[in-house]
Amino acid sequence: TKAAGLVTLGKVNMDEFAMGSTSESSYVGATSNPWALDHVPGGSSGGSAAAVAADLAPFATGTDTGGSIRQPASFCGLTGLKPTYGRVSRFGIIAYASSLDQAGPMARSAEDCAYLMNVIAGHDAKDSTSVKKEVDDYVANLNNTSVKGLRIGIPKQYFNVAGLDADVKARVEESLKKLEEMGATLVEIDLNMTEAYVPTYYLIAPAEASSNLSRYDGVRYGYRCENPADLMDLYKRSRSEGFGPEVQRRILIGTYALSAGYYDAYYVKAQKVRRLIQQDFLKAFENVDVIAAPAAPTTAYKIGANLSPTEMYLGDIYTLAVNLAGLPAINAPVGFDKDSLPVGLQLIGNYWSESQLLSIVHQYQQNTDFHTQRAAIAEENV
Ligand code: GLN
Repeated sequence: TKAAGLVTLGKVNMDEFAMGSTSESSYVGATSNPWALDHVPGGSSGGSAAAVAADLAPFATGTDTGGSIRQPASFCGLTGLKPTYGRVSRFGIIAYASSLDQAGPMARSAEDCAYLMNVIAGHDAKDSTSVKKEVDDYVANLNNTSVKGLRIGIPKQYFNVAGLDADVKARVEESLKKLEEMGATLVEIDLNMTEAYVPTYYLIAPAEASSNLSRYDGVRYGYRCENPADLMDLYKRSRSEGFGPEVQRRILIGTYALSAGYYDAYYVKAQKVRRLIQQDFLKAFENVDVIAAPAAPTTAYKIGANLSPTEMYLGDIYTLAVNLAGLPAINAPVGFDKDSLPVGLQLIGNYWSESQLLSIVHQYQQNTDFHTQRAAIAEENV
């Protein structure tokens, strides 16, 4: 980004080790949602979303392991793109779950995301998972996908999820109606593995996290406790004092799932289910060009709502499968709920379809003005 002439304005808040959906698990505390200061901006890249929504920056980067670009973009009324696994380098990013992590842009519009993608996409010798594949000119392609004749898959299972808020459902359906008016065809499809998304992700992601975070031993890496009595005390206290409760919970779950005796029953099984989830999508893409979903079942939570871990995990139902399959997906703002909080539409594409996703949202944004609306607090920063 430096070579492109961009100036980094600063680092922003996020959930500790990118684990969370509210940014409240941050070591330095909660971030406010610019649309309603007593609400969260989403997570884990909540600070990035809040900064753009408050007009402190024209765009920001985030990482998305299970939704952390798309869900905060949805909660803050922004456009956010999670690229195909391997499209953008992760060099310099602390690994959370290495087989799921991907970096991407968050901005007001698809056009702004395209400009940032032109700078950050591509192979990087410093990230072994980044793919050597030609990069599109995302800006030049902004009008290249025809919405006329586009087949948009509507997964039956997604719109019958118990926790789906009525306003979110209504706004998403209105946005699909708009795309239909623009010439798209809506096709009902089945994604039969929907119920498996949350358990599969919350097994694989903690397993990889427990392995990645084992380097925080207080000896060669990371926080070290004061005056350890002996080596065991050093390990124990460094890792108990240095990690917050959500991170500790995931290390415990992940270590358990990887331990001898449980590895086959949990980890290997989850990997098999992961493959079935991917196949479910590939089958769907035989009949449709993109798949539509809400980005999240609700709008932004209140700060301090104190969701139980399982309640919070269930809020990730619409974003996790994209990472498990390695697919690209975009969030676009499509209106507001009864409390004037933003609602997001998610479009999931086949591998390497970033240009197509940006182009569809760009054309939608030429016909709507949700992406140009600003929170009152942002008006002061223009
Ligand atoms: N909310 C999900 C989690 O807590 C996703 C986080 C992310 O994408 N970094 O794991």
